[in-house]
Amino acid sequence: MKLSEHFSLAELCHSQTALRHGLENSPGERELRCLRHLAEDFLEPLRRLVGRPFSPTSGYRCPPLNRLIGSSDTSQHVRGEAVDLKIPGFDLRELASLIRRELTFDQLILEYHRVAEPDSGWLHCSLVDPASGRKNRGQALIFDGTTYREMDDVLTVQADR
Ligand SMILES: [Zn+2]
Repeated sequence: MKLSEHFSLAELCHSQTALRHGLENSPGERELRCLRHLAEDFLEPLRRLVGRPFSPTSGYRCPPLNRLIGSSDTSQHVRGEAVDLKIPGFDLRELASLIRRELTFDQLILEYHRVAEPDSGWLHCSLVDPASGRKNRGQALIFDGTTYREMDDVLTVQADR
């Protein structure tokens, strides 16, 4: 099933961990609506912006799968509101800056990134369910596995080194 012109439900539900553990990882109606919104209003605009195809490394995660990989039950991946991605040939910090300038998002988190390796880690990107009444926060953070910090502070500090 296609969610949008260039993104399919299968790729936003794909998970090696789910396969290994025999988990179905199928979204319900509400999660499906969120995934469609994410594909139409975040992934497609991002694809146009970078001018090349890419596929998220992680999208929807059913609660058992999400627990298996050690993520919290409140993760936006469980609601179908988040994807993790990287794009071949893009420095993740430049990609993060581009997204902040050009796109609407709820949270943009640069995770497990090492400055010396431009394509290390990934970007967690989310959009809230439009039917939830919540607003997109436009929050840009860096997560190193332990703490969350504001993206601005960290990028400025690193640029000075
Ligand atoms: Zn994520």
